[in-house]
Amino acid sequence: MMNKIEHIGIAVSNLEEAIKTYEQLLGTPCYKQEEVSSEGVKTAFFQVGESKIELLEATTETSPIASFIAKKGQGIHHIAFDVSDIESSMAELKDQGFQLLNEHPKSGADNKLVAFLHPKSSNGVLVELCQEKRD
Ligand code: ZN
Repeated sequence: MMNKIEHIGIAVSNLEEAIKTYEQLLGTPCYKQEEVSSEGVKTAFFQVGESKIELLEATTETSPIASFIAKKGQGIHHIAFDVSDIESSMAELKDQGFQLLNEHPKSGADNKLVAFLHPKSSNGVLVELCQEKRD
């Protein structure tokens, strides 16, 4: 079961400019910037109530964000749902026929374990599962 919308990911071509725009739009400062080099992205996070907005800029030409922008332009890239136990959520969804893009949870931005579902599985929406890392 999904607990809440953890964040909405937005692909942007210039992170610095987008941060200014979203600080104005949301009326709250960006609270964290983080590079995830394994994914080829720089990210910036905003807290909006119980959810977040994640802005993503590509850092490499092979980054999924670079190909998304090349194909579709800037815009909403994914919706991330908070789950309590990512391993069991992944297994459950897989049993139900959803196509996972990664077999095992991987390390994402903002102290999360993440996994993605193929957009074909969910009516064209790239879905991210995320679980807070516990240590
Ligand atoms: Zn995300």
